[in-house]
Amino acid sequence: MSTTAGRAIERVGFIGLGNMGGPMCGHLVSAGFDVTAFDLSSEALDRLVAAGARAARSAVECALGVEALITMLPAPPHVESVLLGSEGVIAALDPGALAIDMSTSSVAVGSRVVAAARERGVEVLDAPVAGQSIGAKAGSLAIYVGGDDAVFARARPLFDAMGDPARVFHLGPNGAGYTVKLLLNLMWFIESVAVGEVLSVGVKAGVSLDRLHEALVGSPANSVFLERDVRMVLDDGDYDEAFPMRLVTKDLGLAVDLARDVGVPVELSALVEQIQRRVRVVYGDDAGEISAIRLYEDLAGVQLRLPRS
Ligand code: NAD
Repeated sequence: MSTTAGRAIERVGFIGLGNMGGPMCGHLVSAGFDVTAFDLSSEALDRLVAAGARAARSAVECALGVEALITMLPAPPHVESVLLGSEGVIAALDPGALAIDMSTSSVAVGSRVVAAARERGVEVLDAPVAGQSIGAKAGSLAIYVGGDDAVFARARPLFDAMGDPARVFHLGPNGAGYTVKLLLNLMWFIESVAVGEVLSVGVKAGVSLDRLHEALVGSPANSVFLERDVRMVLDDGDYDEAFPMRLVTKDLGLAVDLARDVGVPVELSALVEQIQRRVRVVYGDDAGEISAIRLYEDLAGVQLRLPRS
């Protein structure tokens, strides 16, 4: 049996070639890594083959002989089924190889992956990302990494090829990457509800949206969401379908589960999770991630749009 321990990474396997994983895998090919790719969708796989990746016929085949195997899958059950078990890719990796999960997944599944990998002599990093599909295409993602220092250093060239090198954060041991990613999403989606409530009440109470927005941005209550991100809705009526509500509610459920696992009561987070689940039911699984604003527009009977300047 060969071992890849300590070797510089040249051969990479990539599983999960969707909105995020497709362009991320493409950047690895462009950076000169020898990439083998796999996805259940043949269209997604064909796109990467056209870009220069080798096609694997299964997840296990994708893992054979590589120094690093990256997964970018929808949710923890997909991560668990691809990585673990007798048909899982951890069992197919060479000792010393590196498994990097870049999905937004759970610390709990991550711990089971680490335990299985340890038995096999495989190293593991959790490395979820932020920056949307635009950032994945531009190669400007922020990457939040959990795992050992030496393993992080070995994987660094991969992260630099997929993300913005100035925003590759090594946050601590395994699990720290998932934790920070879930918490930053939680805060952002709490803010989207807060901004939806505040703007719709203000406009319904008779204040013009441009005056209200300008005053709030110049106040101690300002935030990046209020000043920048909500402008997609206020300027263009765009609720950002690049990140669908089915993934929003998945992430918020994981954040609330995490809080429960560590024993911290989070009444506000749990309420916001429920509000966002209502948004998903009302507007659909594929509705855009800022659709909470739409819920408050509809409840108040107002449309939150800034005049075109
Ligand atoms: P996606 O649904 O577009 O892509 C997931 C891909 O995984 C699909 O191509 C699917 O066919 C494939 N897949 C599913 N199960 C598989 C299996 N068993 N074997 C092989 N392939 C399989 O999702 P996405 O938007 O690329 O998101 C991926 C992850 O990144 C999610 O965890 C998401 O929360 C996270 N994320 C997404 C965004 C975003 O803006 N879309 C931003 C940051 C993080």
